[in-house]
Amino acid sequence: MPEGIFDAFGWCDSDVLEWRCPGSWDDATPIDGSDPARMVFVLRHGPFDFLPGELAAVHAFGLGLTVEQALAPWGIDAATDGFHAHRVRPGDALWLAADNLNALFWGLHDWAHFHNHGPFEPHQRAWTEVQCDVSALVWLWINRRDVPLSEPDWERLRRQVVRLSRKRFEGDGASFDESLLDAARLTSRHTLSGERERTARS
Ligand SMILES: [Zn+2]
Repeated sequence: MPEGIFDAFGWCDSDVLEWRCPGSWDDATPIDGSDPARMVFVLRHGPFDFLPGELAAVHAFGLGLTVEQALAPWGIDAATDGFHAHRVRPGDALWLAADNLNALFWGLHDWAHFHNHGPFEPHQRAWTEVQCDVSALVWLWINRRDVPLSEPDWERLRRQVVRLSRKRFEGDGASFDESLLDAARLTSRHTLSGERERTARS
């Protein structure tokens, strides 16, 4: 990874992401880069005035949400900046509602953003994004039994993410090193410290 992609990489260790899913889990939604449907970060009791809010029930269904506020889906970058500026741990402010694989993948991707504040430099966006993709794929691999996600379905997801990442690098005019998302590399226990494994499971 080139230096300087994240100016304050890892300012806050990620610990627990609380994810809630209604009874009907859908693992067939493809990752194609379009905005994830049926996914939102629901706000806990604040004050979190720096987070742009919307009614959670507009985005997440089957969880009995009524008047709860959620992070506005367009507010991911603002939240990333705000968590860093206010030194608020994302897990203290938000939980994730997602009822399908595309939604959960993007929730995990955004979760990586929240903990790794940094500038989106022009022509380096693909590098920033691929780091979040790696985090999301590794989390899903480690937690595949709990999700649940079969190994072939994880591999299908990984290939979709490779395609998406390649497009981003092309858009940035940068060359894409596909080994960044190599399956053996992502699933190797040796790429994770014991601490990180416990973190991802919790
Ligand atoms: Zn992103």
